[in-house]
Amino acid sequence: MQQQSNFRFTNWAKNETCIAQKYFVPETEAELMDAIANNKTVRFTGTGHSWSAICLNTEALINLDRYNKILHLDKEKLQIKVQPGIKLWQLNEELDKHGLALTNLGSIAKQSLAGAMCTATHGSGIQFQILASQIEEFTLIKANGEKLVLHHERDKELFNLCVVNLGCLGVVSEITLNVVPAFNLHDRTSVMNLEQAINQLHEMVNSIDHFKLWWFPHVDDVVVYRYTRTQEKVNDSRFRQWLMDEILSVSVYRLFIKIGNINRDWRKRINRALVKKFMQPLNRIEKSYKVFNVPEPPLHREVEWAFDISVAKELLREYTQMINASAHRINFIQEIRFTKSDDYALSPCYQRDTIWLGAYNADNFGWKELMNDFEQLAKKYNGRPHWGKEFSCNSEYFEAVYPKLDDFKTLRSQVDPHGKFINEYISKIFF
Ligand SMILES: Cc1cc2nc3c(=O)[nH]c(=O)nc-3n(C[C@H](O)[C@H](O)[C@H](O)COP(=O)(O)OP(=O)(O)OC[C@H]3O[C@@H](n4cnc5c(N)ncnc54)[C@H](O)[C@@H]3O)c2cc1C
Repeated sequence: MQQQSNFRFTNWAKNETCIAQKYFVPETEAELMDAIANNKTVRFTGTGHSWSAICLNTEALINLDRYNKILHLDKEKLQIKVQPGIKLWQLNEELDKHGLALTNLGSIAKQSLAGAMCTATHGSGIQFQILASQIEEFTLIKANGEKLVLHHERDKELFNLCVVNLGCLGVVSEITLNVVPAFNLHDRTSVMNLEQAINQLHEMVNSIDHFKLWWFPHVDDVVVYRYTRTQEKVNDSRFRQWLMDEILSVSVYRLFIKIGNINRDWRKRINRALVKKFMQPLNRIEKSYKVFNVPEPPLHREVEWAFDISVAKELLREYTQMINASAHRINFIQEIRFTKSDDYALSPCYQRDTIWLGAYNADNFGWKELMNDFEQLAKKYNGRPHWGKEFSCNSEYFEAVYPKLDDFKTLRSQVDPHGKFINEYISKIFF
């Protein structure tokens, strides 16, 4: 097995880092189990795309990049069984070859499947739950090496308790996913007045399959993403993809960020120019996974919380007014997404249809202050933070917003009595 000593792990956003005494990249189940058995404390990493300190450990860190095989594809049953380290982009490509697809995705596909599952990664669309809802069955190997196979119907109670697990119940070693016949998305993205969008929010949320908003601070318009599921033919042009998705969204945007770093007060005008001058209405049809995923963003900080959809309008008005009136100078989108309620104990969407609000900024300067202001507002609205993003709450807060937290804690202490999978991040949440 590939193994390194004193390995420096740094996450994608470069805001979290640690030196792991032992770093393992197992390829077989025996290697994986050995690495777990022979170390007192262990954490796992997929692609390191979490902003939170979820992966950090100073003893053993197990990377699942090579534990990424496709084990079985059943076209009749519309199911695929895979190892957990497979990346979402690999799954998308493999499924596409067979005329199949995942029914919903987040904004990028670089994550490992298990990383996305364990942190309740989500996309947008009020009829669609977090990505983990596509799981039919998964296998969990506990600290003592025992295997637990959990089926979403047959073992409903335990499955719901364990599926979003922050990597603290053991290693997820196999996952069977339910997939759907490949489909396309009709993308009618356009710009709309912010207040008008808030007024019409529920109509749009309920009538558009995959709806989300991108708001740049200090702009009175908002980008409205409208994706409708279709079997109509793909018609997106390669030239448009190159111009918009590579040149404008990547190179030009990064240049604007650099200009806004010369003088942070210019960011208001830059944001307005980005939305009003560069955002052209879209009317294109493309394969679903290519539309769900956006071009790779530049390095930035993220906090994103989940709220009951009933507070959506109030929350958006208060947040946008607070940011516009504040001294924060933000050079990045604030993202607003929607997901259907579920019954998974640690899902931020637990038993409530959800609006997600994310504060993002490509600047470390002033980030703590922005995060503090965001969190104060988020707590007032009983929000639940994304497990893979930044947050500063403690166990007391989680007790208050997760009705099933105690059940999860009891289970955690049963399956991992010696705290093999506990790091500082896990302690802050549960103790
Ligand atoms: C640019 C970018 C865009 C993003 N877009 C979205 C988005 O659209 N929607 C969204 O919800 N989130 C999004 N995220 C957050 C991201 O989806 C989550 O943080 C996800 O967990 C990252 O997956 P990963 O494979 O990198 O996991 P890592 O960050 O490497 O690991 C996270 C945790 O997963 C657990 N884990 C991983 N593999 C296993 C295993 N086999 N067994 C047990 N535990 C395991 C461990 O606890 C690990 O600590 C984005 C992140 C980035 C950087």
